[in-house]
Amino acid sequence: MFSGRMGFPSEIVDDPLLTMVSPEGEPFPHAEERRVMYVAMTRARKTLTLMGAASRQSTFIAELVDDDAYGLGADKTEDLPTCTCGDCGGHLFAVPRKDGGTFYRCEHVELCGNTLPSCPDCGVGIPVRSEDGRSSDCRCGATFQACPVCADGWLVERSGRYGRFLGCVKFPRCNGKGRL
Ligand SMILES: [Zn+2]
Ligand SMILES: [Zn+2]
Ligand SMILES: [Zn+2]
Repeated sequence: MFSGRMGFPSEIVDDPLLTMVSPEGEPFPHAEERRVMYVAMTRARKTLTLMGAASRQSTFIAELVDDDAYGLGADKTEDLPTCTCGDCGGHLFAVPRKDGGTFYRCEHVELCGNTLPSCPDCGVGIPVRSEDGRSSDCRCGATFQACPVCADGWLVERSGRYGRFLGCVKFPRCNGKGRL
């Protein structure tokens, strides 16, 4: 569920001609999509999962989260962090891995395809570039040397033909290196 002209609800304004012929003004914003949403939500038998992007939040999601009656706002602070994709400037979001771990993937899966592993120390957070650009710091407290080549990778110990060295977590997509 995304906001925007082609989102849900769609933000394309109805043709004024249409409002002239509809029986009376709709009492709620996005009334037509609201009915569709209501039907879809109330058909759920056990649980309901709504998916979207925090950066382009559908107004329906915002309404649900803001209304305390649904109890959705409570663990907002527990949300995993998002960070900026160094390849395209989009957002990287946490995605669960099949083995139970977490990795981060750019919201533009098909156009960008950038992924990053989670923090090697805590396994859930993502190290983000510090203000001076020299380190990548995770909210768990772990800190890593920032990759000198890409904008979002950090350096981890790797072993190569000539011994151990620091290499970007995005290797082989990024060849950034550093000294141990
Ligand atoms: Zn991207
Ligand atoms: Zn961490
Ligand atoms: Zn890199």
